[in-house]
Amino acid sequence: MTRVTKVKKNGLIAAVAIGAVVSSAVLASSAVQAAEEVNLYSYRQPFLIKPFLDVFTKQSGIKVNVVYAKKGMLQRLKAEGRNTPADAVLTVDISRLNALANAELLQPIKSSVLEKNVPAQYRHPDGLWFGLTTRARVVYAHKTRVKPGEVASYDDLAKPHMKGRICTRSGKHSYNLSLLASIVAAKGEQAATEWARAVKANLARRPQGNDRAQVKAIKEGICDVSLGNTYYMGAMATNEKKPVQKTWAAAVNVLFPGQSDRGTHVNISGAAITEHAKNKANAIKLLEFLSENFAQKMYADQNFEYPVKAGVAWHPLVASWGKFKADKINLNKIAKYRSTAAKIMDRVDFDG
Ligand code: FE
Repeated sequence: MTRVTKVKKNGLIAAVAIGAVVSSAVLASSAVQAAEEVNLYSYRQPFLIKPFLDVFTKQSGIKVNVVYAKKGMLQRLKAEGRNTPADAVLTVDISRLNALANAELLQPIKSSVLEKNVPAQYRHPDGLWFGLTTRARVVYAHKTRVKPGEVASYDDLAKPHMKGRICTRSGKHSYNLSLLASIVAAKGEQAATEWARAVKANLARRPQGNDRAQVKAIKEGICDVSLGNTYYMGAMATNEKKPVQKTWAAAVNVLFPGQSDRGTHVNISGAAITEHAKNKANAIKLLEFLSENFAQKMYADQNFEYPVKAGVAWHPLVASWGKFKADKINLNKIAKYRSTAAKIMDRVDFDG
């Protein structure tokens, strides 16, 4: 069991095992000296990943040094170039993984384990990145003010009966851009523009706050529905630190849009191996470990996400929202249409 210290450095939180000095230079030099370790840059928070990283170290003997980042991973990897200490990255959202791939900061991985465990839809065709968990972008709907059938699809959010009833975070947030990109992919730019314009016209207030803030607004009667990622429902419903969030969660149902057409939009959290990884073999072992039953269950449960590997049981709370059909679109396509989605959000002045 490793204890974790946190030191703020250049806006990044570095957490390493006690006894190690915290700096990327030290991570780099120790990478050279000790063969059995792997250096990870993570956008995922310590509480999510530490439990299974500890198990990985116990099982494999490979020490995992983690630098936790809130932003700036791409810039940092670029600036460090071939001197980067990072062997692997953990992040959320296809757009971030794709940006790393486009900047040629990742290397393709061939692994029969990863190919078996991660469905093709959730990994890069050449092995540049692999999805590890999925999350659906759903509609949170007030339990009584929203009648059954009122919001069965994303299209319904654009219809006149939703006037003044929708809350959302910024249209330019990754989560909403990916959703809009999936609409561009399915229906074309013109239809996606009309959708965004009509949803904007139906908003109860200007886009603001995060996904949870919208559920609070529903509870307070400001709006009836919002867009949100599934795991926030789990986080709110079980929030012992801020129990008021339990009352927000209790006010809404989770609706999976698009069940009678293309399915609900799904995004991933994922991992990749850096172009200049010095502990490549260990990094592959780590990614393979993350794709296997034990870590899949623990990783998904920790944040109320869905495991990517088939046959891994869902957390009971996650399962209580029901099974659903996911949009089968390849995530590469969503990444491809992201800039179009951003243009559309500007064109309709979604946040204005
Ligand atoms: Fe999130």
